[in-house]
Amino acid sequence: MSDKTTTNPLLRMAGIPAFDAIKPEHVGPAVDTVLADAEKELTRLETLTAASSAKVLTWEDLLAPLDEMDYRIEWVWNTVGHLLAVKNSPELRAAYETSQPKIVGVGLKISQSLPIFRALKAIKNDAVQWAKLTEAQQRIITKKIQYTELAGVGLEGAAKDRFNAIEQELSKLSTTFSNNILDDTKAFAMVLTTKEDVRGLPDHALQLASQAFNQAKKSEDPASTPTTGPWKFSLDAPSYIPFLEFSERRDLREKMYRAYISRASQGTTDNTAHMHRIIALRAEKSRLLGFKNFASLSLSTKMAPGIEAVYKLLSELKDPSLKAGNKEMEALTSFARDKGCKDQLTDWDVPYWAERMKEDLFDFKEEDLIPFFPMPVVLDGLFALCRKIFGFTVKAADGQAPVWDQSVRYFTIHDDAGKEIAAFFLDPYSRPENKRGGAWMNVCLDRRETKSGLVHPIAYLICNGTPPVGNKPSLMSFDQVRTLFHEFGHGLQHMMTNVRFREAAGINNVEWDAVELPSQFMENWVFHGPTLQSLTSHVDSKAKLPQHYVDKLIAARTYRAGWASLRQLQFGFIDLELHDRFDPQGKETAFDVYQRVASTTGVLPPRAENKFLCSFSHIFAGGYAAGYFSYKWAEVLSADAFSAFEEAGLDNESALRETGHRFRDTVLALGGGKHPMEVFKAFRGREPSTKALLRHSGLI
Ligand code: ZN
Repeated sequence: MSDKTTTNPLLRMAGIPAFDAIKPEHVGPAVDTVLADAEKELTRLETLTAASSAKVLTWEDLLAPLDEMDYRIEWVWNTVGHLLAVKNSPELRAAYETSQPKIVGVGLKISQSLPIFRALKAIKNDAVQWAKLTEAQQRIITKKIQYTELAGVGLEGAAKDRFNAIEQELSKLSTTFSNNILDDTKAFAMVLTTKEDVRGLPDHALQLASQAFNQAKKSEDPASTPTTGPWKFSLDAPSYIPFLEFSERRDLREKMYRAYISRASQGTTDNTAHMHRIIALRAEKSRLLGFKNFASLSLSTKMAPGIEAVYKLLSELKDPSLKAGNKEMEALTSFARDKGCKDQLTDWDVPYWAERMKEDLFDFKEEDLIPFFPMPVVLDGLFALCRKIFGFTVKAADGQAPVWDQSVRYFTIHDDAGKEIAAFFLDPYSRPENKRGGAWMNVCLDRRETKSGLVHPIAYLICNGTPPVGNKPSLMSFDQVRTLFHEFGHGLQHMMTNVRFREAAGINNVEWDAVELPSQFMENWVFHGPTLQSLTSHVDSKAKLPQHYVDKLIAARTYRAGWASLRQLQFGFIDLELHDRFDPQGKETAFDVYQRVASTTGVLPPRAENKFLCSFSHIFAGGYAAGYFSYKWAEVLSADAFSAFEEAGLDNESALRETGHRFRDTVLALGGGKHPMEVFKAFRGREPSTKALLRHSGLI
């Protein structure tokens, strides 16, 4: 190594990155070095597989060096990606953009190497070698083979050419599909000019609409103000949703709704043909890879054991949801009638009246609760809960690790005996100038065994809370508290893992319909009255959150749960049908499928003109194809897991501890080293049941 690279902190490739020393100019040289090393190593391994064609390679020969190679690339690239999200700068972005294609290129070379693929299959097919491996090791190899096969690496000749052509076309189609939605969404505008037109709309909606008008106006037009208009409304969610929920003008709500359900369904931005072509190509690709259809291909990488199991789960949820949804509709109708509404409620009325009824039932503003949730109190409550149920202790360890911003905190986690087993960074506050919005958990270091010992897992927990003002601590909204618990749940699975192999430790290698189990599980605790109160202490009076607020927060969770559940079920069913039974060359169109499914999964009959499928980007331009059900699947798992704690008794300390330890030793500890169905059964003693979710949502 040259002097230039030895002083490059991104090339240390071990331990916590030196965030205080890493500069954008380190990125390029570090990436080039680590990728050059990886290519050399890949060549060595490919040569090794050729030279040893007569003998099956061992884990130490092949998998350990492959893992070391991946680890080094990830250490560098994850660190850069992390800094891009929390300490963005034009220089860093430029460095990232220059290096990214190189990372992708080498990554593909490694994951699609034919000699490595064959060597992995040889290990799997050799009974003696295979038996020597642990379950986690076997799963790592099996998944590597599977993903390589799904990338078409095992295909030859004409089949391979056709596969590659399909992939190319699909990638173009999905870009066109989402561009059409964007363009068509942008093309629609409803400009309102009189106070009468904007009756009922709250200030924040008017501000946004006024701003939107000013951004789009011609120079000769007069400027808008939030109080005098003109106001421009669009089909973007932040504009569309408040309009449907608050506008008192039924005719304008109808206009907006009709525009929304016909996005990208006509003219130059029509997605109809693209959608049918995508479905046909996916089916063809699946057959080339040996699957019956695309749904089977998608399910081959998921926790759900098969299509029938998914239909069964969705169907079990359907009837109770439909029943509840119909009841909710009755209640809403009579509420609207009491308030003087004479119309038969339809699609563009439901959001409006549901919002009025919500205000009536839960008459508090979220702002009123914020002073009860100082961040230090919330954190103490969360850590105390973890000690109570999981038996580990969280200690503040600020100063023991370098940070990327002075407000970032560092915590260590200790087992019963006081031994440090994991750690995490908490980046709590929003910094719009250089930090991405939202909240997330990311990996800093994976748990792994090295020659010099075991490396502890370390997580990044990122929130976007309000920074402290004056001498008052940061105050959180209830939603932010819930989000913190969600992300901490992901963090727990990362940090509590006991898997020794990095690629199956924590959340690595976990099937994606199972990955939201620990996170959604943790959210349940903020709806447990005593736990919720333990997270509160009014910033001035130090009072706990009053019981009537606790009751309302808990009740609001199930408000219109039937309606919400039906929406997800409908999308899940449609997605599955289109990728399972539907034949794009057959008599039915995708719209017919929509009509058929929606007529049995909705409270209101579907409108004949509904072209929502043309903007269903989750499945036509995102990663949810034949996977939309995962939302419900994961909810069933997390609710059922939480119900084990309810059965033990949420106020029974010793029973809670026992259940908590079992959860820690199974769901949190086994990571991707065991099939998630086996992990779930090890915790729950049986397969998942939909009962708990139905009960938590107030549907039974
Ligand atoms: Zn999540």
